[in-house]
Amino acid sequence: MSLERIADRIREFASIDAPVGFEETVLRAVRDGLAAVCDAVEVDVRGNVYGRQVGAEDGPVVMVTAHADEIGFLVTSLLPGGFLRFAKLGHPTDMVLPGQRVRVHGADGPLEGVVGVKPGHVLSGDEARRVPAVNQLYVDVGAGSADEVAAWGVEVGTPITFVGEMTATRNPNVFFGKAVDDRIGVVSVLEVAERLAKESVAANVVYAIVVEEEIGLRGAAVAAKRIEPDVMLAIDTVPAGGTPDLRPDELPWEIGKGPLLKVRETRGLSTHGPLRRFVRETADRLGIPYQLIVDTAGVTDATSAQQASGDVAAMVVGLARRYSHSAVEMFDVRDVRRIVDLVAGTVSGLESVEPLRRF
Ligand SMILES: [Zn+2]
Repeated sequence: MSLERIADRIREFASIDAPVGFEETVLRAVRDGLAAVCDAVEVDVRGNVYGRQVGAEDGPVVMVTAHADEIGFLVTSLLPGGFLRFAKLGHPTDMVLPGQRVRVHGADGPLEGVVGVKPGHVLSGDEARRVPAVNQLYVDVGAGSADEVAAWGVEVGTPITFVGEMTATRNPNVFFGKAVDDRIGVVSVLEVAERLAKESVAANVVYAIVVEEEIGLRGAAVAAKRIEPDVMLAIDTVPAGGTPDLRPDELPWEIGKGPLLKVRETRGLSTHGPLRRFVRETADRLGIPYQLIVDTAGVTDATSAQQASGDVAAMVVGLARRYSHSAVEMFDVRDVRRIVDLVAGTVSGLESVEPLRRF
């Protein structure tokens, strides 16, 4: 599995515009990808896609998850001049919004636009230093009136996404763009499924690509209830440190230094101790570097899955990425390959739930 191939695949998936509640394009691609390497594929009414690989009769049920959705916005009103007010879907960073390129997904096809920004020339000192409230911002798609923008297929509820094409830096391993969160997870799940399809694995693996993570970890809770797994591994992104605007002790983990193994998330989840040990032993066995972290800011689908299906050993395998919830999320593709190696190695090594007993 070459880094180039992974980077190309991330580029392909991150270029899909699929904000919360509008994930169909990603879900269709995932369903087709899983159908090629799974024994059965199903979709629930919520939109979650499940690919099952049957293992041994008494093998543990392992759920490997990533979320399909990305952050975005919804049109809340069409202003008389043809401008669009909007609300956030999930939590895009307010600071990056003015002057941001966006795409408005009208019924007749996408419209390119920008979030307007007041000319610096006329801002008072105080105003120039303030981040405007989201309800003061607007999107400009070049329309001259509300009627015109409506005629272009835009209405209340039309989704909007960041524009942020996946871009290579001079460093051959480092890329940036929008929707790294969590299309790297989606690509990782597909890669793991493809690899384990060629192996004989004791675990009964269910690959679940879930919806609505960015507005409260919702799809994963539905999926965990349905699958009732013994083990749940969530692959998601985590804000990383190592930049000049963060103290060394804030987010003390970095891109390029290996998967993040969460000991704890902000809310709810302390990852399962024996499972965490098992994942670490797998990493050591395979020579994969990793970073152990206590996440004081973030939360993933592992938390909601653990809450929805109580009797489960849950764990998060994270990708460190800079500039979280912006159009320029930056990551190191070597970390993605390590995540795939680590998750595949963990799943194939889990022959029963016995190593997961706490005592
Ligand atoms: Zn995420």
